[in-house]
Amino acid sequence: MDHYDVVVIGGGHAGTEAAALAARRGARTLLLTQNLETIGQMSCNPAIGGIAKGTMVREIDALGGLMGRATDRACIQFRMLNRSKGPAVWSPRAQCDRTLYRRAVRSLLEQEALLDLRQGTVAKLSIGSQGINAVETVDGLSFTAKSVVVTAGTFLRGRIHRGTGEAIPGGRAGDEPSVELAQAIAALGVTVRRFKTGTPPRIDGRSVDFAKTKRQIGDPVPFWFSHYQRTQKPEQRPCFLTYTGPELKEIVHRHLDQSALYGGAIASRGPRYCPSIEDKIVKFSEVVRHQVFLEPEGLDTSEMYVNGLSTSLPPAIQLAFLRTVPGLEHVRMTRAGYAIEYDYFPPTQLSPTLQVKGIDGLFFAGQVNGTTGYEEAAAQGAVAGINAAAYALSLEPLVVGRESGFIGVLVDDLVTRGVDEPYRLFTSRAEYRLLLRQDNALRRMLPHAVVLGTLSPAELELANRRLDRENSLLNRLEETWISAPQANPVLSAMDSSPLTEPAKLADITKRPEVSLQDLLRALGWPDDPETMECVSVELKYAGYVAKDRAGVARIRQLEEYPIPSDLDYAGLLSLSHESREKLQAIRPQSLGQASRVPGVSPSDIHNLVAEIARHGGCFT
Ligand code: FAD
Repeated sequence: MDHYDVVVIGGGHAGTEAAALAARRGARTLLLTQNLETIGQMSCNPAIGGIAKGTMVREIDALGGLMGRATDRACIQFRMLNRSKGPAVWSPRAQCDRTLYRRAVRSLLEQEALLDLRQGTVAKLSIGSQGINAVETVDGLSFTAKSVVVTAGTFLRGRIHRGTGEAIPGGRAGDEPSVELAQAIAALGVTVRRFKTGTPPRIDGRSVDFAKTKRQIGDPVPFWFSHYQRTQKPEQRPCFLTYTGPELKEIVHRHLDQSALYGGAIASRGPRYCPSIEDKIVKFSEVVRHQVFLEPEGLDTSEMYVNGLSTSLPPAIQLAFLRTVPGLEHVRMTRAGYAIEYDYFPPTQLSPTLQVKGIDGLFFAGQVNGTTGYEEAAAQGAVAGINAAAYALSLEPLVVGRESGFIGVLVDDLVTRGVDEPYRLFTSRAEYRLLLRQDNALRRMLPHAVVLGTLSPAELELANRRLDRENSLLNRLEETWISAPQANPVLSAMDSSPLTEPAKLADITKRPEVSLQDLLRALGWPDDPETMECVSVELKYAGYVAKDRAGVARIRQLEEYPIPSDLDYAGLLSLSHESREKLQAIRPQSLGQASRVPGVSPSDIHNLVAEIARHGGCFT
């Protein structure tokens, strides 16, 4: 029997981050996954990032995770979303070559000295008096572990649906479901629910008439998700935009009873923000046309992903509706879309470290916690991997605050509020959006990474050098004054009003129409775009950023006020009945967390403070 500190079950987006970061934290780690060839497989769209998610990828990277580095190696089109809005909400998104992405993840994992990769399907978990202690595969191999991270994605009792007649067991198309592991977890007394999700058909790009579509190219400005790696970008490729029309609507309507979603084959809930075409036609019947993005699957294939037409209709109907879309009149479908139903575990059963409450050493991360999306899975994987290593090695756990990162917002939302539909991250879920930007992810996460020891010396040096450059530019701008005659030609070129007296460069940068890059160029200062980005946003939004930071300081008081772990809420009669029930179930660790439990009112929090004081706690 082989012995490990941490065993990670599953090599998807959660599992690979968990394994890499557990190993980087110093734990002897084993990644056990059904098929080594599918490590890092993108089950659905070949893209990483987007609104809020792109910022979270940069946070994972800053902690030493894989997703940013793998994305840079596989990126065949890059776009900064929200560019027309303020830079504080810019969101990086990369179209990826599916194969390059998988390869990048595998090769990055193989660089981790403390990590072993092994093919195997876990069927059993062994729990002793001290918590979890081993896992066993279907072919009888056992591995002992001080902690275990389950990241089985959509595989737990997965069932794939196409139409109402076809429901086959599967973890995703072409992969076996994971039934024994699902049963083993349910047998531990963990509550299980079902969700569903879906994917669109894929098509042969050689059969598309691109002249009838709108070509979309990526940004010309180079961008890297990773703070530590600068690889050569692969060849860049365009995407294409087209639209559904009335004919498609009519076909979908006519065959709704054959859809697994509408014909009764699936009862569970799906992601509201990635609706199927059936959902779009039924729920948004007034919308005349829906966008359809044709996205390349990779550099060495003509296959394309049809983003926007996720469906569980029978394949013949899928082909019929595809052919009504401009540009797709003669399209050849390479793979039909499908829907999948799977088990998940309501995440209020977890503590903020992502450990299952009441089962020491067992951690859950990714789709199994009721989320959807690669980035959401990766962020949880990072937290669970780091904390599984901490548990195994008796180190301090990692809990990222809501004010420090989207990772913190995501995990806190899951464990405190729970989910009633597949959870996806948005910027609006964060209270302090101006603080959680993609340009300052390194600044926010580096202090954690330093404590955790998850960066190599070379990475640490790169990180410190970058932050030093930003600090010194900020200081120089604050300290340097410019005369009116020197500034005015530059300001006039930017349509900015002239100076009548000397001004600080920092104050000029605060003007919305002034580009820091153009200003520095005109002054002959070195212009490093990466350094300037964060400095420019900090200055332009200084007032709002300061307001958010003051808010954080107030909230921190609540967050730092611990609640005794043995508090019996049932006896706290000054709280409402609903609050007592909810708090008893969630068992929040701080007053801040308690205040976010749905159904707990401000007056309940007020009374809770008094009750805790009565139990010997103190509010500083
Ligand atoms: P996965 O990526 O599913 O990885 C799970 C891993 O666990 C796999 O490697 C599997 O082989 C392994 N495994 C399972 N059981 C065992 C076992 N017993 N032993 C060992 N290994 C095991 N996301 C969106 O954001 N939008 C969408 O529209 C969307 N649509 C989707 C449609 C489909 C059909 C599918 C399948 C997924 C879709 N997703 C979508 C979700 C996205 O794929 C997931 O969010 C993401 O992959 C979750 O990552 P994960 O690591 O949790 O799980």
